[in-house]
Amino acid sequence: MSALFAGVDLGGTSIAAALAERDGRIVAEAETPTHSHEGPDAVIRKIEQLLVALSAKTGATIQAIGMGVPGLVDVPTGVTKFLPNLPTQWRDVPVATTLQQALGCPVSLMNDVRMATLGELVFGHGRTAPAPLTMGFFSIGTGIGGGVVVEGRLRLGPLGAAGELGHQTILPQGPRCGCGNRGCLEALSSGPAIAAEGIRLMRMGLAPKLFELVGGNVANVTPREMLASGDESTREAITQAAEYLGIAIANVVTILHPELIVLGGGVAELGNALLVPIRDVVRQRVGMFPTDEVRVEKSQLGDRAGILGAIALAAKAG
Ligand SMILES: [Zn+2]
Repeated sequence: MSALFAGVDLGGTSIAAALAERDGRIVAEAETPTHSHEGPDAVIRKIEQLLVALSAKTGATIQAIGMGVPGLVDVPTGVTKFLPNLPTQWRDVPVATTLQQALGCPVSLMNDVRMATLGELVFGHGRTAPAPLTMGFFSIGTGIGGGVVVEGRLRLGPLGAAGELGHQTILPQGPRCGCGNRGCLEALSSGPAIAAEGIRLMRMGLAPKLFELVGGNVANVTPREMLASGDESTREAITQAAEYLGIAIANVVTILHPELIVLGGGVAELGNALLVPIRDVVRQRVGMFPTDEVRVEKSQLGDRAGILGAIALAAKAG
């Protein structure tokens, strides 16, 4: 019986799991609804069942498990501290110990975006970049998460919370952010922030093609629809969001002088509509050294970055 590594990505709506070889080659994967209202014990049992089923399907034993969670976790013990989007917020839930006892192998927990950063480092752009790599990772979706790698090592900090790149202040008097601050990058350039501007433009009659594309239904307005519409106004809104991202990235570049900045998450799928203005802003705003060698790229792993990071962490522990 062969041995594989397991990666788990715990989300508010679904749990994804995969078994893979040490080199990141995925052998089997599965997904199930989280049903987070049933509470931590039921969700942990569901993860256990998902992994047992994958193990049975592949005929492989699980050598070690890595698991990304949406919030704060005590990394050395694998105890969740604060998962803001899950009921009860999972305060002090000993997830790693419980799963370890049930499945008989080491379990390592980490914040999901730091996990995606690790995935990109080990199996994405980091694989071919010169070592030791310094890199900033932005995950742009419903929120903006981040992660920082300094000379080949993921920087976690004492609470595993280092690298929250989406909560840099970009506009001092800007819109409120979920973290309590104002004018964070997340409040300006996340998917909902961009869509909100699209909806405003549509309601004011300034985005007629978008109106036609979504049938006037505001619930269908997303950054992708805004780009596809071809309205000049929505294109400007995307460029504005990209310029705010560019400022945040220029700050990270000034602080770290990294070789690489990677953009992941659903909004990064806008591709050059984001990347071109971002690269311009970085060139304009970093004046202390040349930035020609600093690459700003879309993630190579897309929505699999998190699960592959979890596999990389499991492979380290196993
Ligand atoms: Zn914030």
